Amino acid sequence: MNIQEGVSLKKYCSYGVGGESRYFCAPSTTDQLKSCLHFVNDHSIPLAIIGYGSNVLISDQGFSGLVLTLRNLNRLIFKKHEKIFVGAGVLLDSMILYTIRSYMSGAESLSGIPGSVGGAIGMNAGAFGTEIKDIVTRIDLVNLEGESYSINSSEAGFAYRKAANISGSIVTSAEFNLAEGDGTALMAKRKDILNRRAEKQPLEFRSCGSVFKRPEGSYAGALIEKCGLKGKTHGGAMVSPKHANFIVNTGDASADDIRSLILFVKETVKKETGYELEEEVKYLGFE
Ligand SMILES: Cc1cc2nc3c(=O)[nH]c(=O)nc-3n(C[C@H](O)[C@H](O)[C@H](O)COP(=O)(O)OP(=O)(O)OC[C@H]3O[C@@H](n4cnc5c(N)ncnc54)[C@H](O)[C@@H]3O)c2cc1C
Repeated sequence: MNIQEGVSLKKYCSYGVGGESRYFCAPSTTDQLKSCLHFVNDHSIPLAIIGYGSNVLISDQGFSGLVLTLRNLNRLIFKKHEKIFVGAGVLLDSMILYTIRSYMSGAESLSGIPGSVGGAIGMNAGAFGTEIKDIVTRIDLVNLEGESYSINSSEAGFAYRKAANISGSIVTSAEFNLAEGDGTALMAKRKDILNRRAEKQPLEFRSCGSVFKRPEGSYAGALIEKCGLKGKTHGGAMVSPKHANFIVNTGDASADDIRSLILFVKETVKKETGYELEEEVKYLGFE
């Protein structure tokens, strides 16, 4: 187990912002993960779990505890009949390519979602009518005491952009159940989805994807646009003119710039439309 000190978190989140973590650990085996958790428990250190940080905003002050990334738990990906078994640190999009090349359908609608399989399970990531909960069948976890256990997907407490019963544990691997598919058709669908994402989303800038969850009865992007906030800036942060629910780093944004703009958007939408937007992005290291 290699616990580093004073690690800059900028390269560990898709926004490219954030201060240092007092401690940092990127285990590549479950045993290393458990040793890391014992270190955290023995020293009573606060713990933050990330995958690829593609849905996280890390504060400029960094984190006073230990940041644990599962991205190196990425060796496992194998297929048995219609099932695949995948390590939590495998990139979700790599898993999707693997399924398409193995003539398996079910995961292709999630093409282009950045981040790890573990993060996608923790967030119940979804797009184009599919959520991770629709295809994951079994989830292997380690709790904060360092004990391994497994659950069926139905026990995860999956709901819109959350897995209530997983928070407080760490996903180490998962099993997915897919159907047989036509590789050429699946690849064509993937390409179409990637094109549609590139058309609608400001992928040329760093972001966390959608900042806000979809409120009941409306869309966050539509509400933000209605308030005339497209293109609104705060320091290096900007409400994307292409997709109003994306707040992007135009180059030199600080985490404070981004957070201030998020809060400003939230307040303005509440005042002008009555809708209370809720963040999909997770804050790390903020008071
Ligand atoms: C350009 C762009 C487009 C995006 N499009 C979409 C989209 O279409 N749909 C969508 O749902 N999301 C989208 N996202 C958000 C993001 O990609 C997803 O939420 C992704 O699943 C996060 O994975 P991650 O590994 O980066 O997790 P992180 O961002 O590192 O973490 C997210 C959450 O998951 C938890 N977590 C991470 N790993 C684990 C683990 N192994 N065990 C337990 N908990 C864990 C973290 O504690 C945190 O609460 C987009 C982001 C970007 C930047």
